[in-house]
Amino acid sequence: MKAHDALYIDGAWRPAAGRDVIEVVNPVDEQVVGRVPAGTAPDVDTAVRAARAALSGWAATAPAERAARLAALRDVLTARKEEIAETVTAELGAPLEFSRAVHAGLPVSVAGTYAELAATHVFEERVGNSVVHHEPVGVVGAITPWNYPLHQIVAKVAPALAAGCTVVLKPAENTPLVAQLFAESVHEAGLPAGVFNLVTGLGPVAGQALVEHPGVDLVSFTGSSAVGRRIGAVAGGAVKKVALELGGKSANVILPGADLARAVAVGVANVMANSGQTCSAWTRMLVHTDQYDEAVALATTAAAKYGDRIGPVVSAEQRARVRGHIERGTAEGARLVAGGADAPREKGYFVRPTVFADVTPEMSIAQEEIFGPVLTILRYADEEDALRIANGTVYGLAGAVWAGDEAQAVAFARRMETGQVDINGGRFNPLAPFGGYKQSGVGRELGAHGLSEYLQTKSLQF
Ligand code: NAD
Repeated sequence: MKAHDALYIDGAWRPAAGRDVIEVVNPVDEQVVGRVPAGTAPDVDTAVRAARAALSGWAATAPAERAARLAALRDVLTARKEEIAETVTAELGAPLEFSRAVHAGLPVSVAGTYAELAATHVFEERVGNSVVHHEPVGVVGAITPWNYPLHQIVAKVAPALAAGCTVVLKPAENTPLVAQLFAESVHEAGLPAGVFNLVTGLGPVAGQALVEHPGVDLVSFTGSSAVGRRIGAVAGGAVKKVALELGGKSANVILPGADLARAVAVGVANVMANSGQTCSAWTRMLVHTDQYDEAVALATTAAAKYGDRIGPVVSAEQRARVRGHIERGTAEGARLVAGGADAPREKGYFVRPTVFADVTPEMSIAQEEIFGPVLTILRYADEEDALRIANGTVYGLAGAVWAGDEAQAVAFARRMETGQVDINGGRFNPLAPFGGYKQSGVGRELGAHGLSEYLQTKSLQF
């Protein structure tokens, strides 16, 4: 894998201030596939200064020109799709087909939506005797995780650029290679120097320096709740704007009239995709007590079919975390019907596709985000019981409802405390706002709502 021994700052690849490096490991065979600089506070400072210097010029650029640069970025990403897929497969371990379709495909489509939105968004409106201008918030510090490494970068950088903001990105330490590829693509797309900057590095070092830097106006973070809470506190102390995209424990509610076989099959696939490392995964399947045994049997068979088809999780640490959850589930009395905590292979950070039945709402496996290929199946007595269980966690990111009657599914979805609900297998929409109720986060990403996060209003009265 090609790796830059440098940081992308102010339009060029520059050496880091220190000598420390991060080794990037392929989770399939545990081999080192690249090394990138572990940037530190002085690097973050240089990058933030570059972003500040570029801000007034970029903010004043006509929206049509920003749209043209984003369209160029989309085109570069499209042309480099195969390289992106191979890079994500090497550093995340995702099967190549999945990397092609999702890890490379999704960022192209999101970049495309912002090329259009930059051109069509209303940045100025009349309200009575006022003209309201929607102006860029300023310099954005973006901190991203490894699970959908390029998607999460594009979901922050594209709307920020469309809004007229400039950006310093600190990507996850496990997946910095695709971030470097993104920086190359930004360069190729002709974005002016300093508009986008990349500092690879460790979270508590480079990430923290970015959050604390007084030259950053908005911090946009996706990752764990623990780190999100700390970032929110630091940003709050400095009265900095903050967007947090945190964890989830989403419910897949199968109402009695639903197509049970389809709902279970899609539900299992949803959890196993990306080896369960999806914040919006439907990790709690809720089934009526009369259909419970049938659903468990269907899910067990479905999970067994995934056997070898899912990739590993991202790291040894993540594997240990997931296995710990599986062991806790068994210890708490849940019934393991597929998979388990044992290692399916000698090499690589693999976890077996795992399904737990007889899960009760208070169990830790029904409350905590596992972030691995682990499905829990819970039973409910009636709709009110299902709603209580569905809403009974600190999270509220996504969810699903299946019913024979669409209106019944919609009525149930409207009572769920969550940011997104897929009705009878509704497809992912890259223009729909994505983000959490409750402790799943603050703010929204994607589409026009995602763009608004990077804008602030100024009202002129006449
Ligand atoms: P993390 O929150 O530690 O890392 C996410 C990003 O934050 C990385 O870029 C990291 O370098 C950075 N970071 C870490 N500490 C920081 C700090 N003190 N200041 C600023 N930035 C910091 O997540 P992780 O350790 O990679 O994963 C742990 C758990 O988080 C997972 O098991 C999963 O439950 C959850 N997670 C959720 C999402 C999501 O999409 N919501 C994504 C990844 C992980």
